[in-house]
Amino acid sequence: MNEDTIAAIATALGEGSIAVVRVSGAEAIGKVAPLFKSKEDLREVESHTVHYGWIKDPDSGSVMDEVLVTVMKGPRSFTAEDVVEISTHGGIVAVQSVLELLLRSGIRMAEPGEFTKRAFLNGRIDLAQAEAVIDLIRSKSSKAFQVARKQAEGALSKRLVPLKEQLIELLAHVEVNIDYPEHDVAEVTGGVIRDHCGAVLRQVETLLKTAAEGKILREGIVTAIVGRPNAGKSSLLNALVKENRAIVTDIPGTTRDIVEESVTLSGIPLRLLDTAGIRETEDVVERIGVERSRGALGDADLILLVLSRSDALHEEERRLLEELKDRPTIVILNKSDLELRLEEEEVRSLYPSERIVSLSAKEGLGMEALERAVSKLFMSGGIESSDATYVSNVRHISLLHASARSLQDAIDGAEQGLPVDLIQIDIAAAWESLGEIVGDTASESLLDQIFSKFCLGK
Ligand code: GDP
Ligand code: ZN
Repeated sequence: MNEDTIAAIATALGEGSIAVVRVSGAEAIGKVAPLFKSKEDLREVESHTVHYGWIKDPDSGSVMDEVLVTVMKGPRSFTAEDVVEISTHGGIVAVQSVLELLLRSGIRMAEPGEFTKRAFLNGRIDLAQAEAVIDLIRSKSSKAFQVARKQAEGALSKRLVPLKEQLIELLAHVEVNIDYPEHDVAEVTGGVIRDHCGAVLRQVETLLKTAAEGKILREGIVTAIVGRPNAGKSSLLNALVKENRAIVTDIPGTTRDIVEESVTLSGIPLRLLDTAGIRETEDVVERIGVERSRGALGDADLILLVLSRSDALHEEERRLLEELKDRPTIVILNKSDLELRLEEEEVRSLYPSERIVSLSAKEGLGMEALERAVSKLFMSGGIESSDATYVSNVRHISLLHASARSLQDAIDGAEQGLPVDLIQIDIAAAWESLGEIVGDTASESLLDQIFSKFCLGK
């Protein structure tokens, strides 16, 4: 257990109706009690109760704010230590002055992520869960939030525990064979190793399969909207945004010449780029715009190619259709409300019908068909109904890959008839990689790196 008691503002700064200061540590209750003016003495209240009163500066006697104080005694608290949460009135002044008073009373300002780090160090949560808390704070879509919440509850960890157990049993068995060859324990044959490691490997691979979808949920699908001028790209963007606007966040490193908007379709976050019209041009200024949109095309996870149905296919549109047919492209036949000069058949030779959507961006008609097409292209298992565990954290993915490689090495070694003590090294490495995900074998510097990503107060 940590010796010192820490405090920080746990709610986002700014104008809200309430703000919360969180205090954690052995002296949390004892340090807050003298500052809390109320009928009750915090030192005598039951755990998990809320109390009404005032925070008062004992030196000057001045009242800071009218507050509600929640007391949660360890180990039944987020950090597993005694925790006191003080809900003040919103506004930066009230909450800051309460925090300052606490710091003057010998409570230390918490470092970013320190509450969560304590929860981890005190065995309350494992490392994968702690990292999920970061993802929770940062999640951009409701689905990403759900994925992170499940992981914070320990969904991934639960899947890993039995795998680690299987490997440790195998290791123990091998160990006995090596150390006590005369002992009456059945010998671990190459076949046994191959079967056991193979079973674990299959499960690791299943988890890795969820990684691509996990990344999408976490970071969003980078989507380029392309097509000739006047095809209706901006109208499509507007139609999508109007109904599905996501919590818009600033994503660093994006060029502002390209309009970017975030929307969620069936819970899948899309980052939409409306690019300059793609067409060949002699105009230098326009060409820069076109080159830029070609760049956006190259990076895109999804391309929405917008064609106007009120015009016959243009030569460069034929080229684009051909060029993009092996990319994740959905062809939008726009302006379906007008007299048609472009039939679906013309596109069918190059694209399967589930990747062709007829709609009217201006009238907002046919947008659900687009939503279904996107969902089909990216989410194999039907994302809405599935409650699968998604591995979305880059660190977890690379450790799962490392574990899979070690398991494959062990299997290969067993098939080649290598001595067991050599194969044992690979099995141990596979076990360690899995352990590193939940933090059994994480180093101090790794912990610092992970927890420094948190914002203050978590
Ligand atoms: P962009 O140059 O590709 O971005 O095309 P815009 O979105 O600016 O649209 C060009 C013109 O086509 C505008 O006058 C739009 O109102 C019109 N337009 C776009 N989509 C539709 C549609 O679905 N139906 C009809 N009738 N007009 C549309
Ligand atoms: Zn436009």
